[in-house]
Amino acid sequence: MRAFNFSPGPAALPDSVLEQARDELLDYQGKGLSIMEMSHRSKEFMAVADSAEADLRELLGIGGDYHVLFMHGGASMQFAMVPYNLAGPRDTVDYVHTGSWGTKAIAEAEPLARVNVAATSGATGFDRIPARDAWRLTPGAAYCHIVSNETIGGVQFHEFPETQAPLVADMSSELLSRPIDVSRFGLIYAGAQKNLGPAGFAVVIVHRDLAGHARPGTPRLLDYGIQAENGSMFNTPPTYAIYLASLVLRWVKAAGGVAEMARTNRRKAAKVYALIDASNFYRAPVLRQDRSVMNVPFTLADASLDGEFLAGAEARHLLNLRGHRSVGGMRASLYNAVSEEAVDALIEYMKSFEAEYG
Ligand SMILES: *Cc1c(COP(=O)(O)O)cnc(C)c1O
Repeated sequence: MRAFNFSPGPAALPDSVLEQARDELLDYQGKGLSIMEMSHRSKEFMAVADSAEADLRELLGIGGDYHVLFMHGGASMQFAMVPYNLAGPRDTVDYVHTGSWGTKAIAEAEPLARVNVAATSGATGFDRIPARDAWRLTPGAAYCHIVSNETIGGVQFHEFPETQAPLVADMSSELLSRPIDVSRFGLIYAGAQKNLGPAGFAVVIVHRDLAGHARPGTPRLLDYGIQAENGSMFNTPPTYAIYLASLVLRWVKAAGGVAEMARTNRRKAAKVYALIDASNFYRAPVLRQDRSVMNVPFTLADASLDGEFLAGAEARHLLNLRGHRSVGGMRASLYNAVSEEAVDALIEYMKSFEAEYG
C-alpha cells in the first residue's frame, strides 16, 4: 500500500503521476527509450518542456511579459541568483525576515549587496508576519524579498504587500497551492520538490525587465538573461525532473486548477488547526492570521511523548510528521498531493492519541 506522506520535501506526489511515469519508464511513446535517455533537444523532450511551461503559464495566469525558467540548483541557488541579477554590489536590497529560509536567503545576499532587514519576527520566535506598517523599506532598493510560506515555521503571507521596489518571493512550499496575481511580483521562484515534482530544479518566473542585467562576473549559468535566451537549455537541464513536473502540472489542471487546489487545501488545513485549537493537548505556535495552509507545525503538551506519537503514527502509515530539528515538535505538510483521506487519517490518529495520553 501507499503510505500517507506528510513530508515537508521532497514531498508526496500524486499516485497517478507516479503510475504514468512507471508505465512510460522504459519506452516513452513507442520510441523504445526512456525520456531520461533522450537528448534534451529531442522533439520528444522539447514537447515535454514546452507543455510544462505552457501549463504553468495557464495555471497561474503568467503574462507574456514574464520569462518562465527551469533552473538547476533548487531554491537555494536562487538565494544567490537574485542578488547577482537584480542588484549591484552597492545597491541596497530589502529582506522581510519571517523564518529559517529567510535567514538563508539573507546570508547568501549579504556578500553581494547591502542587505537591509526591513522587518523581522525573530524576537517572537518567527510566529507571525511583521505588521506591514512597521517595515522599514529602503527608498530606491533594488528589490524587496519575502518568503511567502516559511516551510519550517509554518508562517504564510495570506496577502502580499505593496512595495515600491520589485517584490521577489520564495514560493517554494506553496506555488500552485492557490491562485496568485503574478503581475504583483518582479520575480517568483520555487524549488520543485514541495508542490511541483521531485527535487532537482527550481522554477523562476521573472519579469522581462529584470532579466539581462546581471552584474559583471556573474557565472553564465546563473544569468537569467542568458537562461531566457536559451530557453533554460544553456546546459543540459534536469530532464527527468522536468518530465515529472510536466505530469504534475497536467494533474493539477485535470483536478480543476489552482482555485480548486486552494479550496481543498484550505479545508484540509482548517480541519487540522480546528482539532489543535479545540484541544488542550496539542498546540500550534503560529498566530492564527498568519498560519500556513501548507505546513502545520504543532507541539504536544508533553514533549517526552514525541517519540511515542511518531511511532504510533508510523504504525498507521502516517509518515514524516517529525518537526524540523531547529524547532522540534511535529509538522504536518499538507501539499497538493496530500489527499483529504490522508488528513482525515491524521486527525483520527491525533484524536485517539490524545484520548490515550492526554
Ligand atoms: C525547501 C525550501 C527551500 C530550499 O530548497 P532547495 O531546493 O533545497 O534549495 C528554500 N525555500 C523554501 C521556502 C523551502 O521550502
